[in-house]
Amino acid sequence: MSQLEIKDLHISIGDKPIVKGLTLTIKQGEVHAIMGPNGNGKSPLAKAIAGHPDYAITGGDVLLDGASILEMEPDERARAGLFLAFQYPSEIPGVSIANFLRAAVQARMAEGEELDATAYYKRLYAKMDLLKIDRKFTSRSVNEGFSGGEKKRCEILQMAMLEPKIALMDETDSGLDIDALRIVADGVNAQRAAANPPGILLITHYQRLLDHIVPDFVHVMYDGRIVKTGGKELALELEAKGYDWLKQPATA
Ligand code: ADP
Ligand code: MG
Repeated sequence: MSQLEIKDLHISIGDKPIVKGLTLTIKQGEVHAIMGPNGNGKSPLAKAIAGHPDYAITGGDVLLDGASILEMEPDERARAGLFLAFQYPSEIPGVSIANFLRAAVQARMAEGEELDATAYYKRLYAKMDLLKIDRKFTSRSVNEGFSGGEKKRCEILQMAMLEPKIALMDETDSGLDIDALRIVADGVNAQRAAANPPGILLITHYQRLLDHIVPDFVHVMYDGRIVKTGGKELALELEAKGYDWLKQPATA
């Protein structure tokens, strides 16, 4: 079974340390929620793992199935089975979702391997059925004039098509309305219940999202570290008590 191991990870932006020794293992099939107040390094954590160049990893390691990913380019990380759901996906006018996803799937295949069109559409339609997405949806241009919910639907479909080992989902600031929230939750839950489910790191400060995606583990991030880990009940405790009782500055 696949797993992502984050070991004593340190991340800086410029000279400023943002993540200060974070350790966490996500196994395939598990959902780990990271919660915490704004400005504590949750989004930088996801971006650095995905390979964003602005986020320098200054210590520790990230291993996918025992092999460090830190020397890999972002596209190699994706091919190795990592998926990052971006908070603000861009518009690609004139490119249909079906063609975009086809390129994404093709990019994940080994060099010289051809994606068979019939097999591709069969898989696409199977995933759309799984996620209860209307066939008309995939002829639209990527994110062009999309509502928040439609952007999420596109992202969830992309995730389902790529069948990642590990998915990093940063939902912190995306202003999920109830429609979008339900699309994300239903999409994640459908993939969780399917064969070969991904391991999911779900970054959110909405307790509400965790009513719909019930996590296996909840971690609280404060000042660049995980200061508390618990089960799904920890999210409810945070909802009731806030974060102040957990605040303790990192010592290093
Ligand atoms: P969270 O997702 O927990 O709210 P932030 O995204 O606010 O965390 O990031 C934590 C810290 O890193 C903040 O102090 C923020 O200003 C800083 N930061 C994040 N991204 C950048 C960036 N691209 N350039 C400079 N500073 C950044
Ligand atoms: Mg954030």
